[in-house]
Amino acid sequence: MDYAITLIPGDGIGPEVSEAAVRVVDAVCPGIRWRRVDAGASAVETHGTPLPEGVIEAVRETRVALKGPCTTPVGKGFSSVNVALRQALELYVSLRPVDTLPGVKTHHEDVQLVVFRENTEGLYAGMEHEPVEGVVESLRMVSEHASRRFAKFAYEWCRFEGHRKVHLVHKASIMKLSDGLFLDVAREVASDYPFIETDDILIDHLCMSLVLDPTPFDVLVMENLFGDLLSDLCAGLVGGLGLVPGANIGDRYAVFEAVHGSAPDIAGKGIANPIALIRSAAMMLKHIGERDGSARVERAVRTVLEKGEALTGDLGGSATTRQITDAIIREL
Ligand code: ATP
Repeated sequence: MDYAITLIPGDGIGPEVSEAAVRVVDAVCPGIRWRRVDAGASAVETHGTPLPEGVIEAVRETRVALKGPCTTPVGKGFSSVNVALRQALELYVSLRPVDTLPGVKTHHEDVQLVVFRENTEGLYAGMEHEPVEGVVESLRMVSEHASRRFAKFAYEWCRFEGHRKVHLVHKASIMKLSDGLFLDVAREVASDYPFIETDDILIDHLCMSLVLDPTPFDVLVMENLFGDLLSDLCAGLVGGLGLVPGANIGDRYAVFEAVHGSAPDIAGKGIANPIALIRSAAMMLKHIGERDGSARVERAVRTVLEKGEALTGDLGGSATTRQITDAIIREL
């Protein structure tokens, strides 16, 4: 096995958790050649832009990337690196599995959710303008094309992975045209999958229901901003941002990254929890067909959590990033 994979370490805790994920992947798949490129605040210092063209070129060449969180410098006229990368590579699906992990204390048991977030439209289309001074308009873009390809991906994934219940999440009671279109198109796609139960639910109602009892839900499919907010809420249900992995997927490329951001408050201290990115790397291994390596990583993470001997501060322990990573590697 001999693959090249792009590695974007990112900012804040990004380099620390990326190094941890690379060590774990190297331990199960030693043939991977990492092609390291900088994006985010670190790239501004070296390239004058947070998203140098070389980053997109590298992902286009390797098709797959593992990415740490990237910070977008505030107030300097730069648009978000994460959003620009998703748009440039047409990574139109964000997939975030959220599940209860052994040994992690939470309010609910047996949470098994999958959040599908449309990644290219909604308010993230970045179409803002100031028609008159003191008034700003933000366009919430929803198209039939993007909704259809996104819903199709989600249903195909459910069919392949054996998930049988989808909730389409919306606020069509207020945004009748935009969310109305999303719902119509998604329902049309759903009709091709009669063996998957489909229901729809208002985003506000879903938030309350998830906090009270997340167990009746399985797969949640929604537009961009709702997905951003709900991913963090769901991460909270299973123990926090340090644990939840994610993937951004399009027809040609895929970028794997944790749900959390750059956590500047703990950056450089060596105490960040690397599990979210390590599990994102496990998703990446599955994506490239290394199913055995992927399953080994996921099992090792669960064993370390269950033993509870090497946990980072966010999980109530005092282990460093390196110590928890060493423990995971020992369990592989
Ligand atoms: P961004 O704007 O990039 O999302 P943020 O600081 O608003 O950044 P996060 O970086 O996601 O949001 O983090 C929120 C808080 O959660 C941080 O202050 C940090 O303490 C905690 N946190 C996030 N990720 C981790 C992690 N991997 N390990 C430990 N704590 C984390």
